[in-house]
Amino acid sequence: MKKRSILSLIFVSCLIIAGLSQIADAQNARVLSEAMRVTGDRFTVTTRTPRGASVYAVNRPSAAVLNAIDQGLTDLFAVARKNGYYKRLNYTDYSIFIGRADRTVDSQGQYSPDIAVGAAQYAGSIYDQGGYIYAAGMVISTDPCAFVIAEHTRDFGRISNVVRYEGEHLVLYHNDRPRYLATLDHSKGGGHPILQ
Ligand SMILES: [Zn+2]
Repeated sequence: MKKRSILSLIFVSCLIIAGLSQIADAQNARVLSEAMRVTGDRFTVTTRTPRGASVYAVNRPSAAVLNAIDQGLTDLFAVARKNGYYKRLNYTDYSIFIGRADRTVDSQGQYSPDIAVGAAQYAGSIYDQGGYIYAAGMVISTDPCAFVIAEHTRDFGRISNVVRYEGEHLVLYHNDRPRYLATLDHSKGGGHPILQ
């Protein structure tokens, strides 16, 4: 009798774990398809940073790129704590998609790998490039936390900044919803860093 109840307990636990991983798979599939929709890229490489953030990329990222992502998250978590925000401050909470750059040089001639995204709320603003805008990064999903950045071949310090900046939106979403909503749309003014 006792053995049987333990067995059924194990069986139920397995069902719950299977159910949870199915939910996680469904969430990951949703986030992946959104990242593909926004960028038009196929993310065939899956890896992790040394500190555990998930990375999906069009080409295998170098160690320098993975370390730059970790540095950006480290900076983000430090400034978040300084502001009294403690939720979603684990490296494993974050998925970073590295898409193909739609441009590598900005209008001033500076190295600036960016992705083109539909203009939507930016139409007619200074960001509007004729139906789309160039962005250094873009949030793909607030829960789970995911954003896309463009591939870099140098200036990896810029990756750290973009990671920190896109991460600001996600930290605010999970810790301070009014501030998240107030800082979400850069076409109404305000940029990064949001957290000081
Ligand atoms: Zn932003």
